[in-house]
Amino acid sequence: MKIPFLSFDYQNNTIAAEIKEAFQRVFDSKWYILGKELQEFEANYAKFNCVGHCVGVANGLDALQIALNTLGIGPGDEVIVPSNTYIATWLAISAVGATIIPVEPVSTTFNLDPQGIPGAITSRTKLIMPVHLYGQPCQMEEIMTIAGASGLLVVEDNAQAQGATFNGRLAGSFGQINATSFYPTKNLGAFGDAGALTTDDAGLAAKASVLRNYGSEKKYYNEMIGVNSRLDEMQAAFLSVKLKFLHTWNRQRKELAKKYDELLAGTGDLLLPAVAAGAGHVYHLYVIQTKQRDKLQEYLGRAGIETSVHYPVPPHLQKAYRHRFKPGAFPVAERLAATSLSLPLYPGMPEKDLYAVTESIKAFYG
Ligand SMILES: *Cc1c(COP(=O)(O)O)cnc(C)c1O
Repeated sequence: MKIPFLSFDYQNNTIAAEIKEAFQRVFDSKWYILGKELQEFEANYAKFNCVGHCVGVANGLDALQIALNTLGIGPGDEVIVPSNTYIATWLAISAVGATIIPVEPVSTTFNLDPQGIPGAITSRTKLIMPVHLYGQPCQMEEIMTIAGASGLLVVEDNAQAQGATFNGRLAGSFGQINATSFYPTKNLGAFGDAGALTTDDAGLAAKASVLRNYGSEKKYYNEMIGVNSRLDEMQAAFLSVKLKFLHTWNRQRKELAKKYDELLAGTGDLLLPAVAAGAGHVYHLYVIQTKQRDKLQEYLGRAGIETSVHYPVPPHLQKAYRHRFKPGAFPVAERLAATSLSLPLYPGMPEKDLYAVTESIKAFYG
């Protein structure tokens, strides 16, 4: 038996003809950077995300960093960010020279605990960066209220939650300007690196699109110190094809998660992913918690079932950040790193594979 953590077979088969067409169109156009494919994808994704503007960039980390630069965040500014996230969220803050202020998550949802935010705010705090981890949106209404009351900006890291909603409103449409990633394994993934910013503010969108292109609006005239971070025509054309399937593929993820919920309920010491009131989870990942994580992972591995750990080391304990934080500083994040296990889940995953996973887990617990 071999059950992969993730397979692109189904998605790729579904879109193969359209992707080849898109490739041929861009190839023949002989225009590969900042052209009509990108304009079209930006319009499509803005519409999908119910925002006025989308700015395509080279990857998700750049999207976060450009969002911070667009808002003028820099040295001396403090940014509140979850202690439990993928390292990119932290790296973007470091890259602009701002100070990372971690706040612990709610352990059952993995997401930033709004109740921890007020105590972390100082006179230097400028921005809150919530991360919709594993596909579940944060408590955005509470977070926006806290931000509004303290005059703080919000940038959502929406890399893992394209199409997710909070009280019916799309993740990536709450903050002043928000970032997402189209890394191949994300819910909307390119065939290479890509990312984007989403915003309702035309001025911020214009500034971000200048920053991503050398700080230049008119060729060879530079208004700002920008970067080269463009979403190329080929990836934009591919993403427009895949975007049409995103709702369907997210629905499939939700159905698989529901099956896991049903079949794994009451098994051993497993804590299944909790969905907060109001959250429309799109299950980028299905993450369970158990004190026997390593043993369970090993057991499943021997049975041919591939699992993964998101993430084995929390950002504050990475070598890169050890100069600032000590072990024990963020116990919830540390506990999650020691107990979390991501099970196979992807659009097109055969139901029989899901049953094999749940049967194997049950067998582990005897
Ligand atoms: C993937 C991811 C990123 C970074 O995206 P890249 O395109 O790989 O740079 C940022 N934040 C989160 C939460 C992610 O999952």
